[in-house]
Amino acid sequence: MSAFVIDAFEYARHKERREGDTPVAGLDRLSAETADRSGTLHWVLVGGADQLGHPQLTLTVSGSTKIMCQRCLTPFDFDIDSESVLVLAKDEESADAIDVLLDNDEIDVIVGTKTLNIIELVEDEALLALPLSPKHPVCPDQSALEGLKSAKKESPFAMLKNLKQQ
Ligand SMILES: [Zn+2]
Repeated sequence: MSAFVIDAFEYARHKERREGDTPVAGLDRLSAETADRSGTLHWVLVGGADQLGHPQLTLTVSGSTKIMCQRCLTPFDFDIDSESVLVLAKDEESADAIDVLLDNDEIDVIVGTKTLNIIELVEDEALLALPLSPKHPVCPDQSALEGLKSAKKESPFAMLKNLKQQ
């Protein structure tokens, strides 16, 4: 993992660029949120500076994960496709000052370190990209489930329940 630890400020200054593929299974915090440990995240981290000369990192993360639908409790494919601009500050105080100066919700100001772990950054980005309450736009097996219900001979209790729902 140490190969993925960078000096964030040097990385930005030298406009370094790295990319890689990281399996979801290797990311414990992310795979705790996903339905299984399948999938791979592709990431690109590019160093640079903003117009005002602040060092910054641009991180893109893409890939497919499986997450659990909160409505029908079946997993579905969720594509992560996320890009963040992270401006680097030396400490919390200057992070707040830069944040006020930039006044831009699209840009995150973080405290940069000499031991920034790229993989942790990628995992944070992926976690933020996941929906808080994931749901299918339309749950696929709902109609199949309905068909199954009506095909069965209904008990009086089930009929009562259906009446209440109408
Ligand atoms: Zn669903």
